[in-house]
Amino acid sequence: MSEPEITWLSPDTAQIRQPKSSHWEAPFLFLLFGRERSLLIDTGATNDEAVFPLRATIDRLTDEWLRRNRAVFTRPYPLVVAHSHAHRDHIAGDPLLVRRPGTTLVGTTPAQVISFFGFHSWPDETVEFSLGRRIVDVIAGPGHEPSAVAFFDRATGILFTGDTVLPGHLYVRDRAQYRATIERLIRFRAAPTAPLVELRGAHVEMSATPGVVYPPGTLDQPDELPLPLSPRVLDRVLSALDASEDAPGKPVVRKRFVLVDE
Ligand SMILES: [Zn+2]
Repeated sequence: MSEPEITWLSPDTAQIRQPKSSHWEAPFLFLLFGRERSLLIDTGATNDEAVFPLRATIDRLTDEWLRRNRAVFTRPYPLVVAHSHAHRDHIAGDPLLVRRPGTTLVGTTPAQVISFFGFHSWPDETVEFSLGRRIVDVIAGPGHEPSAVAFFDRATGILFTGDTVLPGHLYVRDRAQYRATIERLIRFRAAPTAPLVELRGAHVEMSATPGVVYPPGTLDQPDELPLPLSPRVLDRVLSALDASEDAPGKPVVRKRFVLVDE
């Protein structure tokens, strides 16, 4: 077993990467701490704790954060587990957290996501979710998958985009909805609730060589591109969508992503 890769993006924000050795998809998970609760975005591609000990990792990071912030909190400190979208490699770890004390799992169907976050006019809507003195905007994001959302963390300025926008394959499953989602994110970028610093998706598949992608199944990516993307990438995704309309079914290769119309 190799350890998950932990990066603190801020004192209250942990990025967790599932080890490549446990699953070639090696998705990224994010744990955001607030004054009243924490939010885990995604649970990874496996429920095998022998290869990726999700529960132990969440417990360890939570203990560490609570220790640092001891005076402020009473226990149990609640955890909400939500998902960027419902594909298997982002929800497989859910069963490992079901019985964790103080933990609420958000369901993975569009109806469950809509009802938990309180959307009234999905998908043309952004709603607020409070962690306690820390607000996350939940932006409807279907197109790659029907229940997909993006999370904008006002505290760090990071837009968590799941598989909708990432340095790798952008699989478009519903073209009209995907386009509407990219346009929604561009509108959000034009009037963000806090300065928008960068996008972080759920995988890295691009190499550092522009336009060169590691094929699905790759376990060793010595030259991979860093995860964060500039907010400007949204314009390039939109123009790649236009290009793909001109040549349906043909992957559109750009420097930092490959758009694949499915
Ligand atoms: Zn994925």
